[in-house]
Amino acid sequence: MTARILVADGMATTRITLKVRLAAACYDVLTAGTLGQLVQQVRSGHPDLILLGSGFSDQNPVAICRELARDNGGAQAPVLMLANGANRLEALRAGAAAVLEPTVDEQMLLARIRGLLRDTGAVSDPQRSLAEAQAEFAGAASAVQVALVADGAPRALRWRHLLQHRLGCRFAICSPEEALGAVAVGRAADLYLIAADIAGRGDGLRLLSELRSRVGSRDAAFVVATEPDRAELAAIALDLGAGEVLPIDLGGDAGIEVAALALQMQLSRKEQCDRRRAEAIRTMLWAMTDPLTGLYNRRYALPRLTEIARDALREDTSFAVLALDLDRFKRINDNHGHAAGDAVLRDVAGRLEAEIGNLGITARLGGEEFLAVLPGVDDRQAWRRAEQVRRAIEAQPITLPDLSGGGRIDVTLSIGIAIGRGRDPADRPERLAETSLERADRALMSAKAMGRNRVMLAQTEYAA
Ligand code: GH3
Ligand code: MG
Ligand code: MG
Repeated sequence: MTARILVADGMATTRITLKVRLAAACYDVLTAGTLGQLVQQVRSGHPDLILLGSGFSDQNPVAICRELARDNGGAQAPVLMLANGANRLEALRAGAAAVLEPTVDEQMLLARIRGLLRDTGAVSDPQRSLAEAQAEFAGAASAVQVALVADGAPRALRWRHLLQHRLGCRFAICSPEEALGAVAVGRAADLYLIAADIAGRGDGLRLLSELRSRVGSRDAAFVVATEPDRAELAAIALDLGAGEVLPIDLGGDAGIEVAALALQMQLSRKEQCDRRRAEAIRTMLWAMTDPLTGLYNRRYALPRLTEIARDALREDTSFAVLALDLDRFKRINDNHGHAAGDAVLRDVAGRLEAEIGNLGITARLGGEEFLAVLPGVDDRQAWRRAEQVRRAIEAQPITLPDLSGGGRIDVTLSIGIAIGRGRDPADRPERLAETSLERADRALMSAKAMGRNRVMLAQTEYAA
């Protein structure tokens, strides 16, 4: 859950220094000292942000930046570049999300990283986001966790003493590092009560900002406690995302009830936000998925196909469209009933999804027609994958529900493949998506005409 930062720099000393600084701020750090390592780490390490220095002996760092900004394994991690002089402008032109001087101080570097990470991590995987939102919910229902990050142990103990009888929560007393470390392993608190000055002036606000930039803790509630002579920090704390600011002693005897109520209010606002977020994600999932099989539906899949076509045109790559249709499906309905037909559709969808996984997207377009789109594959790879799907359906009979009389039936399907490739980046992605789907459909019809249970590849549209 913690953000992963890839530090790429040819100089070992720079790499190590940056790694130590970032690890101390509880980021997960990967490093690359050569171009080969950089490429490999981007592909397999899935960084959330790439911190690119110079020091690659035979490579222009701006050119590397351009490549990274153009394609980093589909992950779209922002590139933060360390460059000076003329390279600054060049780096921005090359697509760096931000550029800093190589001598930048630690606070500025971390602030920049937080800012960039805050922009990322939107709902990229709705299924996972829903699972997380629901897990958060379940967690909230069992025991609400409050983290106390105070300016010393006596204060933290006093806060706990004052609050534990007033709020039905579990309290954890922790240092800033422990608070961030817990987020990194998926154990964020529901509410953080943070002293504005912990060990140094204003470091509590930095912690607030850090927690607000991490995916695991950004949706928590935050309350900042300030010394009486540091009232100027209150507005900054609110701007940084604190929901409330309280006096550091939590208001003395008279004010503790007010403070406890304020904390309670922040917790219930957080719970409402969690509920709204889960609701929004659920609605989004309903709109984009097919209720019978759980695969994406037509409404979601066709615009996604156009996006994949757009990427292929821009990057001069190809993609495969697989049109899949069950063979003689009507007979299953006729012989075993509609419920049996539905069970078959669900089973086939599961096998299709298992074969395609995160290589691409799978959808049910309607009836017994499915679609798979595989970005970045050529005809041989697409063919191999389609054969795997075909065999996965043919290999194991499908178990029918007891309601339909039980038993197992053999099912097969036919697949038409079209490889989408743009001739020209100026081609319209909508058109490329549409023609690719049509060609895949025609190939599917040929597969049916040739006897079913087979894969057919559409002729390339553009003869050389
Ligand atoms: P072919 O091999 O040529 O594809 O023959 P087929 O029987 O599979 O194709 P046809 O298009 O003739 O029949 C498709 C059937 O799918 C007709 C329809 O009743 C059924 N069907 C469509 N949607 C659903 C559904 O959601 N559930 C069930 N059980 N059947 C469905
Ligand atoms: Mg059919
Ligand atoms: Mg059909």
